[in-house]
Amino acid sequence: MSKYSNVAHYQDFTELEKILERSGNSYDMDLIKKAYDYAEKCHGDQRRVSGIPYILHPTSVACILGELGMDTASICGALLHDVVEDTPVTLETISKLFGVEIAKLIDGVTKISKIPYSSREEQQAENIRKMLIAMADDIRVIIIKLADRLHNMRTMDCMPEQKRRDKSLENMQVFAPIAHRLGIKTVKEELEDRSLQYLDPIGYKEIEDTLLMTEEGRERFIESIKEQIVEKTKDTIPNVFISGRVKSINSIYRKTIMRNQTIDQIFDVFAVRVIVDNVPDCYNVLGVVHDVFKPIPNRFKDYISMPKPNMYQSLHTTVLDKNAIPFEVQIRTWEMHYTAEYGIAAHWKYKLGMSGNDKDDDRLKKNIENVKSMILDQLEAEDATDIARNIRNDFGENDVYVFTPKGDVMNLPRGSTPIDLAYLIHTQVGHRMVGAKINGKIVPIDYKLRTGDICEIITQKSEHPNRSWIDICKTASAKSKIRQWFKHERREENIVEGKQMLEREFKRQGINLTEDEYPEFFKSLTVKKQYNTLDDFYAAIGYGGIQLWKIMPRIKEEYQKTYAHDIEKITVPQAPVRRKKESSGVIIEGNDDVLVKFSNCCNPLPGDEIIGYITRGYGVSIHKRSCTNVPDDLSKCEDPRRWVKAHWEEKTGETFRSTLQIIANDRTGFLADLTIKLSQMHIFIHTLNSREVKNGKAVVTVTIDVAGRDHLRGVISKLSDINGIEEINRI
Ligand code: MN
Repeated sequence: MSKYSNVAHYQDFTELEKILERSGNSYDMDLIKKAYDYAEKCHGDQRRVSGIPYILHPTSVACILGELGMDTASICGALLHDVVEDTPVTLETISKLFGVEIAKLIDGVTKISKIPYSSREEQQAENIRKMLIAMADDIRVIIIKLADRLHNMRTMDCMPEQKRRDKSLENMQVFAPIAHRLGIKTVKEELEDRSLQYLDPIGYKEIEDTLLMTEEGRERFIESIKEQIVEKTKDTIPNVFISGRVKSINSIYRKTIMRNQTIDQIFDVFAVRVIVDNVPDCYNVLGVVHDVFKPIPNRFKDYISMPKPNMYQSLHTTVLDKNAIPFEVQIRTWEMHYTAEYGIAAHWKYKLGMSGNDKDDDRLKKNIENVKSMILDQLEAEDATDIARNIRNDFGENDVYVFTPKGDVMNLPRGSTPIDLAYLIHTQVGHRMVGAKINGKIVPIDYKLRTGDICEIITQKSEHPNRSWIDICKTASAKSKIRQWFKHERREENIVEGKQMLEREFKRQGINLTEDEYPEFFKSLTVKKQYNTLDDFYAAIGYGGIQLWKIMPRIKEEYQKTYAHDIEKITVPQAPVRRKKESSGVIIEGNDDVLVKFSNCCNPLPGDEIIGYITRGYGVSIHKRSCTNVPDDLSKCEDPRRWVKAHWEEKTGETFRSTLQIIANDRTGFLADLTIKLSQMHIFIHTLNSREVKNGKAVVTVTIDVAGRDHLRGVISKLSDINGIEEINRI
């Protein structure tokens, strides 16, 4: 557990004293010592499961609260939190000895502990409602409870497996979302990471190992970014504090394992955080950052003018460094920083730090009132289920959590269907599925699951999957299980289907073979070699084991070699340029509302000089000005009026597909180096083809997504460093 290895599992009273002293806040140390002595006397020789004296648990909880900056009453509450529950001492005694305020806190914590946990949705909702009521009374109650949970997680190793899993699940479903809602990020992240470690130890370790392996490179990277920002701000903006940060393991986990991405594909595994004195400086730093690095359009978010519901404020932007490596920059003031880390707890921190200041006292009261009314608003929601949903929706924008009729919680990526759920439950459940019920009602099979749905899969023994499901379902695992079924169960069908698919694709690609030529051509086909018969080959296409877009470039090449003798020009499939929003990103002069498409001959990128050509019936096609299909002298060409001026719209957030032809020495490991380099730059690779040419050289064509011309330029310059590369050209 390297990330948290510096956290002591148990802390004693001396350490508590040190933490409180270090905080610079004013505490009633006499009362705190009195609470400690009393708790120690009450717990006597009680021991934790691990054999450690019990008193060290409440003391450690008090330490966590001290780190959060909580007040004297909270610290005393923490020290005494298990006294009423675990010893004969009554609440009245506590009240007499320590006052009503502290007694009330302990009462609240004890009540929360008694709320039984259940994975059934209705029960869970009711529990969260009870907790919210306790919170609305005094928010410090839930903060003490969160610290208690956190400390129990730190010392969970000696507990039985089942108990660790139960507690971890409860943290993920109830306590971490509450910590998030209160903005206490430090507690939320540690709770989640520690729970994840018990829920999926292997997945956790995989991410942790990867992070450790890349640690040094990451630190160097952040150091260089830091230097560049400091260089540009040192004369104009005072007190700029810059640090690097890595996402929590749980948030990387949600993005990688649940969304099937690799760590390299996550934009903000590392981020740079800039902290300054005041709000105007935040925007000044933003200007500098956008000046030094190239911003990725549509990744800028202003949470300063639009704070998140949990009070989080910062500016976020994602930019590219000179090697085209994207990274996130977060810019904020110190006050925003404390709120980001400690959330509602930050307000106690402030209050104590500035004791005697009425203005700050008022602000604290106002903030607590705000949170209270937010919670009360939620309580007024008619249905307790809604409250549970609201809270749960906070923790997983991109996941949905659904329940089986037995009450088990299943976790799927957003956009998943009952088919995905069926295959997640069991392969056989998927194969035999005939329909699904959501909350008791039958729904179409392509229904998009929502968090909180209770989903029942209806099965029938004699049934089997439908080929169309492959396109309907969302998860890769369901798709592959359906394909497997067809592979084994429907050979004849697959052969027919595969043959038709291949013939359709041949037609589309302009491959024309006569009946006589067919068998001869197929005999020579290298992609077919691993299949014993042509039928096997067709069958593989039919069930999806071979994907046509992957093999077609090769087939086309061989076709040209054999029949057209035109092997000079390498062609790769050029899918239409993907667009995320309606706008094409291009402005055609004099034409506002015209269909725009990007030519495949030169694949223009934002930043390229471009020109439009009015086609017959397909709108305007955009070419690079330098494209060979564009006449050099437009005034002398056949139909000059069809060429129109075009330029790029200022901000486009799309990615563009670009194909590179790379000529290199054909050494072993070259392709591996190339793909590693691309993935380090977070570049998505669509297709990659390589073939040998004479003199020990290889020609590689690779189709990738880039953000624009400058991005592509950065990518090319980075690739040029690879040993053995001779030439890189855009085609
Ligand atoms: Mn406890």
